[in-house]
Amino acid sequence: MKGIGVSAGIAIGRAWVLRSKVRAGAVLPGDGVLPTDRVLPTDRVLPNDARPVEREIDLYRGAVEQAAASLERLMEQAGDAAEILGVQLELLYDPLWESEVIDRIRRRSPAREAVLGATEQVAGMFLEMEDAYMRERAADIRDMGNRLVRVLDGEAPDVSPGKGEWVVVAEELTPGDTIGLGDGVVGFVTQVGGATSHAAIVARLRGLPAVTGVSLGSVADGDSLVIDGETGVVLVNPSPAELEDYLFKQEAFSERRRLLATLKDREAVTLDGVRIELLANIGSAADMDVSLAQGAEGVGLLRTELLFMDRETLPTEEEQFQFYKRVLLRAAGRPVTIRTLDIGGDKPLPYLGLAPEANPFLGYRAIRICLEQPALFLTQLRAILRASIFGKCRIMFPMIGRVEELRQAKAFVALAQADLRAAGQPFDAAVPVGVMIEIPSAALTADVLAQEADFFSIGTNDLTQYVLAVDRMNEQIAGLYDPYHPAVLRLIREVIGQGHRQGIPVGMCGELAGDPQATELLLRMGLREFSMSAGSIPVVKEIILRSKTL
Ligand code: PEP
Ligand code: MG
Repeated sequence: MKGIGVSAGIAIGRAWVLRSKVRAGAVLPGDGVLPTDRVLPTDRVLPNDARPVEREIDLYRGAVEQAAASLERLMEQAGDAAEILGVQLELLYDPLWESEVIDRIRRRSPAREAVLGATEQVAGMFLEMEDAYMRERAADIRDMGNRLVRVLDGEAPDVSPGKGEWVVVAEELTPGDTIGLGDGVVGFVTQVGGATSHAAIVARLRGLPAVTGVSLGSVADGDSLVIDGETGVVLVNPSPAELEDYLFKQEAFSERRRLLATLKDREAVTLDGVRIELLANIGSAADMDVSLAQGAEGVGLLRTELLFMDRETLPTEEEQFQFYKRVLLRAAGRPVTIRTLDIGGDKPLPYLGLAPEANPFLGYRAIRICLEQPALFLTQLRAILRASIFGKCRIMFPMIGRVEELRQAKAFVALAQADLRAAGQPFDAAVPVGVMIEIPSAALTADVLAQEADFFSIGTNDLTQYVLAVDRMNEQIAGLYDPYHPAVLRLIREVIGQGHRQGIPVGMCGELAGDPQATELLLRMGLREFSMSAGSIPVVKEIILRSKTL
């Protein structure tokens, strides 16, 4: 079978089938009515009497306490992943969630049914959201539902296969499950959940191979399983020859991972002695930990959109401040490049009420929106500046196409600084302000921009689509989307050269920076700062160590 590999490595073991108490997956029942709104069979409806209702409410509250205690225990073992469980701990006591459950009990559902119903209702709401990140939060809700129902069924809140070498097979793995499963687990196969699901993140954190998108209804406990977390291949009861083949691949993979792990604290220096900076692209504070574990020396791109997308109103200055501060504190003095809001294009923000456009990628997006919405922009800039005293912060503007935009954006930074000065709030007055080079007009006027920017970061994802007139989201023309096209490469070389001639640092934060096939070429073009998803850092570092810049 073939699914999607979401955490690299080969796992070989016995199947351990995890059965969920709550319904996994994506669909509401065909009649569009949530099953919990249907009439329960009469033997499962509470008698029309206050006492049993109060008893069920007590049962529910007791289950919440037990579930919370188990989460706190897990958080102690979870290390880097504790934050994910913290989200659930908050959810358990969320007043909206609680009233979903209690209302159902008052409508005479037993506690167990009430939890099941509320889980489907609330998870269903998340599943209908447009944003992929929000859709995947449905898993957190189901995790909580599962935990509560297990307690109400008189079982332990956590499940674990115990000692052995187990490949966990599940319709869906909730983040709590993933963390709580224990040392006997060597890998995961699930039916639902994407690469950005918490389960996938935790799998990568723990270095456990994982494959998703595979339906394993026919697999029984104890079946022999092989999974390849890179290619997504899953073998059920493999032949001896297949098994041998994968044992060999597993050994080769472990060997390579051991080698790469030894490089973690090693500086990236080329054979001719040039020091290269390896930074991470992140979207959350949790990503920061993953990145440091991979040896990132800081953040070359903090995509702030996530904070704006996962909600229904704009985040306040205080919320943003807390978020940037958290990231800067975790970076512990390493540089953190905070990109200002880059919405529009492929990243809509429904609550801003932007009009639909015929060509959103060429339309009202990113810095163009910020420059026209001073309240929005100033709020973000003030939050970043206030956080700047907690680390080494840089501000970066996306989608700059002409020098006037850079000047205006910098004027907003000055305004935000004036606001803070007036309010007596401290900030780092020397925060560097840089520009993403991701529009051809910016690349071709890099010499002009470099005179007014403190640094450049080349965004090859957008630069490629604009130079080649190839929509980066359109699968039909994916074959034409080619960052190795000479037109793109010439522009990259030009931008690096112009930046350096003007004495400013030039980095790259588009996907090309993390593509090991591009590493040597980029070094020879003069690139000295690479920012990429954390997982690519060890591989790119290994290439740098055996490359030359000339
Ligand atoms: C880019 O365009 O290269 C980039 C890094 O930004 P994003 O992918 O967020 O548009
Ligand atoms: Mg971009």
